[in-house]
Amino acid sequence: MSHTAPKLNAFPVFMRVKGEAVAIVGGGEEALAKARLIGQSSAVLRIVAEHAEPDLLTFIAQTGANHFAAAYDASQLEGAVMVFAASGDEELDRRVAADARRLGIPVNAVDRPELCDFFTPALVNRAPVAIAIGTEGAGPVLAQMLRGRIDRMLSPSLGPLATLAASFRGAAEKLLPKGNARRRFWSDFFGGAPAHAVEAGQLSQAHDAAVDLLLSNTPASGHIALVGAGPGAEDLLTLRAHRLLMEADVIVHDALVPEAVVAMGRRDAERLPVGKRKGCHTKSQAEINALLVELGRQGKRVVRLKSGDPLVFGRAGEEMAALRDAGIAYEVVPGVTAAFAAAADFELPLTLRGVSSSMVFTTGHDLKGNSLPDWAKLAISGATVAVYMGRSVAAEVAGRLIEAGLSPDTAVAVVENASLANRRRFHGTLADLPSLEARADLSGPVMTIIGDAVAGANFERSEPLAAHRHEGVSAAAAEGVQQ
Ligand code: SAH
Repeated sequence: MSHTAPKLNAFPVFMRVKGEAVAIVGGGEEALAKARLIGQSSAVLRIVAEHAEPDLLTFIAQTGANHFAAAYDASQLEGAVMVFAASGDEELDRRVAADARRLGIPVNAVDRPELCDFFTPALVNRAPVAIAIGTEGAGPVLAQMLRGRIDRMLSPSLGPLATLAASFRGAAEKLLPKGNARRRFWSDFFGGAPAHAVEAGQLSQAHDAAVDLLLSNTPASGHIALVGAGPGAEDLLTLRAHRLLMEADVIVHDALVPEAVVAMGRRDAERLPVGKRKGCHTKSQAEINALLVELGRQGKRVVRLKSGDPLVFGRAGEEMAALRDAGIAYEVVPGVTAAFAAAADFELPLTLRGVSSSMVFTTGHDLKGNSLPDWAKLAISGATVAVYMGRSVAAEVAGRLIEAGLSPDTAVAVVENASLANRRRFHGTLADLPSLEARADLSGPVMTIIGDAVAGANFERSEPLAAHRHEGVSAAAAEGVQQ
């Protein structure tokens, strides 16, 4: 989270209440609601109500809560660890709050946030696991909605699983060294056979599976996941990428991957930026390969996070070869590549019936010498062309394509920072494309899409490229050249 994130005015904690008294003053609906909430804990309820309504009386009878059926008096609060002023009578609630404060007991007054030392959360209860949702009183309806959603997400077997985990904590601490091995045990415990058995209601099998896991004690073997982080927007990350980030020991990431995505990783994962952009300090590809191999040998679970898709201009080929040579296990998790994000931002059909039925992923950096690369021939035969890292070679790309016979009027779409809130869209023709090189106002990554299918895009939110056509071309700006 960035340091500009808003601050919480109420901080959630879990308070020990087992066997402690919690006093609730009031005899109506509000008191009953609080009694039900606190009744989910092992606290001893003390209900102060001279006139308790029938529902509350039933609750008291069913739960064995203590009932002080007398007029309110401050002495009834003594010894409690929490007090609720829930009488529905403002004056009485104020008195209760003042008395509690004088006695040094934290107090909550129903519907009067200004009198509250603490707020009660909406609660998802999978004892011993609890999820408490707070909105600082801003939105009880919102809190209930979230509660419903989270409740549906969590298996009812979560509670028994956590209880089983608690019974293994001591043994795990004794048998497994702190750090990697222990963390791995727990992640297999909560994600593997023991969890599955609890889910199926087979508690003794779950216990046996946990014992097996504890004793198998195989040395941790490393694993590298080459993961596509998508084009930048956090919610364009895949669920699989997200899960691996949550399980990672180490996250090795490129500079193009936004901080917000890296921050989605496990909180105490080690984060290693390896640069690869503009002038910023950078490791060579050979150094990165060696780093991944070394981390794998140390038994680490590594997420090698790359922007977009790892297999598109990401030099994954070299990293995979190094890992294969070293005998280190790896997997590849695809991501949304920049061309797809840019097309989506432009509502641009990459294939268009009757117009374009093939597409090319290219970089303009292979236009050396006199012969046209194959992709240029494809462009002339009607393919949609996505140019990665194409800003500093925009003039070269346009010039060579026109020379080879592509019409200067062919449509071109350019997106800077595709998928991000600060994205910019430009439209024009091949003849306008060279102006891109001179633009000092584009500092983010830029995707260029060329072809007749581009004419099917939505140009309502884009600026004309031609506005900059006559500025003249300055020295080519450096960009994220990877390959
Ligand atoms: N593996 C990445 C590409 C890495 S090469 C992928 O699949 O997207 C880096 C180039 O990708 C940049 O020069 C730019 O052309 C393009 N790029 C990456 N992110 C982008 C974004 N958010 N918007 C526009 N282009 C982007």
